[in-house]
Amino acid sequence: MVDLKSQYLKIKEQIDQGITEVIDSTRFIKGPVVKKFEESLATYLGVKHVIACANGTDALQIALMALDLQPGDEVIVPSFTYVATAEVIALLKLKPVMVDVDPHTFNVTADIIEKSLTPNTKAMVPVHLFGQNADMEEIMNLAKAKNIAVIEDNAQSIGSEYTFKDGSKKKSGGIADIGTTSFFPSKNLGCYGDGGAIFTNSDDLAHKIRIIANHGQSKQYYHTVIGVNSRLDAIQAAVLNVKLEKLDDYCSARQTLASNYDHAFANIDELVTPIRQGNSTHVFHQYTMLVKNGKRDALRQYLKDHEIPSMIYYPVPLYEQEAFAEFYNGTPLEVTESLCKEVLSLPMHTEMDAGTRDYIIEKVQQFFT
Ligand SMILES: *Cc1c(COP(=O)(O)O)cnc(C)c1O
Repeated sequence: MVDLKSQYLKIKEQIDQGITEVIDSTRFIKGPVVKKFEESLATYLGVKHVIACANGTDALQIALMALDLQPGDEVIVPSFTYVATAEVIALLKLKPVMVDVDPHTFNVTADIIEKSLTPNTKAMVPVHLFGQNADMEEIMNLAKAKNIAVIEDNAQSIGSEYTFKDGSKKKSGGIADIGTTSFFPSKNLGCYGDGGAIFTNSDDLAHKIRIIANHGQSKQYYHTVIGVNSRLDAIQAAVLNVKLEKLDDYCSARQTLASNYDHAFANIDELVTPIRQGNSTHVFHQYTMLVKNGKRDALRQYLKDHEIPSMIYYPVPLYEQEAFAEFYNGTPLEVTESLCKEVLSLPMHTEMDAGTRDYIIEKVQQFFT
């Protein structure tokens, strides 16, 4: 699905040098390399504060902890997403309220969220799934009107850009009260291990987040709140410092491959290729199609028989996961149910050569003829 080796070979010299410098300095935790990364990412995203942490799941957890929610408070999340988003809500004794998504963008919308609001709704976590922003202007307007905090899960959308109705633009992750991301190796901006970050424009939230991520410590050995230990290693920051410079190029490479796929599959009636919203760029963390008429699994098997990997993100609605049984009201969500049966993601990365691309395209086309 991804080719991290070829990508590494193209930047090997800079990466190896960055890693060696960290080892020579023996500043493995925090230090100037992490600080430089936080500052560069803040500039890139156009946000005031970036706080690096250990992974994208921690980023979500720490963001929620900074909101001072009370046990039982409701937090709205999409039912069609990676488990991390809802997991941390339940872990903090909050109540995940899983809502349906738009059938075309696979993202939550303000209209969907509004129907699930109760007096106990205190936060919402829209996910910019597969690399395209949820409709953040509408979501932020709703949140402001109802006084609800918004955390945007940008783990799949770093580098994408959202355009507001007045024409102004913001980078994904820099729109809500808090944004979170993951630097898991296969993410669009991936390191060589685990990593994550939290973004905010609020000085107050940034201060709280730094304290929470560092054992609740306001100064050394003085602990004002119960926190966690969540840090980005300097070695990972060294990798990210190199790769952040390439992020826009990486996004373009993904977009070009996505357009090639789109074009090649345009005449296949039983395939629905990813739509592009007018108000967001799509950075294709995944190229996810809908395969109609119950043919998804057969297509997947056909590709597998021809040594082409494909993935189902996600096969099961969150509310159907055993772990979330207590939060399920028993009514399946229509769009989520159908997406779980129809989605299929094709190989998508920054290094695909034309031969491989054409082979994948040819086999998909062959299946439908
Ligand atoms: C990858 C991912 C996460 C979790 O990130 P980790 O670094 O693996 O903890 C959270 N949310 C979404 C939508 C993701 O894709």
